[in-house]
Amino acid sequence: MSASEPAIMEVIADHIMRVMYFDLFRYAVTAAAMFAVIFIFKGWADLRRIQQRRASKGDYAREITSSVRTVFFFGITTLATLFLREAGIIRFHFDSFSPAVLAVQAAAMIVVHDAYFYWMHRGLHTRALYQATHLHHHKSRTPTPFTAYSFSVWEAITEAAFVPLFLLVTSLLGIPYIGMAILIFIWFQIIRNVMGHAGVEIMPAGWVDNKWVGWINTTTHHDLHHSTFNYNFGLYFTWWDRWMGTEHPQYKERFRAVAQPLRRARDKVTGGGFA
Ligand SMILES: [Zn+2]
Ligand SMILES: [Zn+2]
Repeated sequence: MSASEPAIMEVIADHIMRVMYFDLFRYAVTAAAMFAVIFIFKGWADLRRIQQRRASKGDYAREITSSVRTVFFFGITTLATLFLREAGIIRFHFDSFSPAVLAVQAAAMIVVHDAYFYWMHRGLHTRALYQATHLHHHKSRTPTPFTAYSFSVWEAITEAAFVPLFLLVTSLLGIPYIGMAILIFIWFQIIRNVMGHAGVEIMPAGWVDNKWVGWINTTTHHDLHHSTFNYNFGLYFTWWDRWMGTEHPQYKERFRAVAQPLRRARDKVTGGGFA
C-alpha cells in the first residue's frame, strides 16, 4: 500500500480519541448549558414552560445514556468521512477562504439539512420504520435539553449520514467545501437541536407573528411534535411543514400562550412598558 492510500485502521488510530471527544463535548456542553440556564433562571423558565408534565429522572437517564451511544455512532461517521477524504472520494479544505463564500456555504448546508431532516423524519414516522428507528426518540414525551441526541442506533446512523452524503454530492459537483463551513454547520445543528428540546420557550413574544423571523422554528414547534406526534416534522425552519400541510393547526396559539405570561408578569412590575 502506498502513502497515498491510507488504511482505514490508520485513520481510526490517528483520529478516534479526538473525534469521540469532539462529538461528546458538543452534546455535553450545549445540553448542560441549556439545562443550567433553565435551572439558574427558574422564575423565567417556569413562566415559559410548554408542558405541565415534567420529565422523570428515568427520562433523563435514558436520554443521556442513549445520547452517549449516539455520540459513538456520530464519531464512527466522522471517522468514515475523514477516511473518505484521505481516499480522495470526499473533498473539503482548510485553506484560506472568503467570508462571503463561507457564509453562503454554511447557510446552504443548513438549508439542505433542513430538507433532509424533514423528509427523513417523515420516513421514520412510517409504519414500516417507526418501531425500529424513531420510537426511542418519542419515549421523551416531555423533551429536555438532553433529548437532543436520544436516538436509537438506526436513527443515530441516519442522522449522522447527512454530513458525508452532503460532502459526497458537493465533491461530485466539484464544489470545494470549506472545513470551517462544516464546523459552523455542526455547531449550529447541536445548538438548534438542544433549543428545540429545551421544554421552555426561548423566543420572545410576537415571534410567530413577525414576518421577518416567523419562519424560524421555536421550541414550542418541536415540543408540539413530541406531545402530539403527527405534526411539526421540521427542524430549523417552518417552510416544509407549511408547504406540506403538516404544521400543527394550533402552533401559533400555543406559542402565544407560552410566550405571553412572561410579558404579563413584567407588565405587573413595570406598568406595561414593554413591547
Ligand atoms: Zn418524530
Ligand atoms: Zn425531538
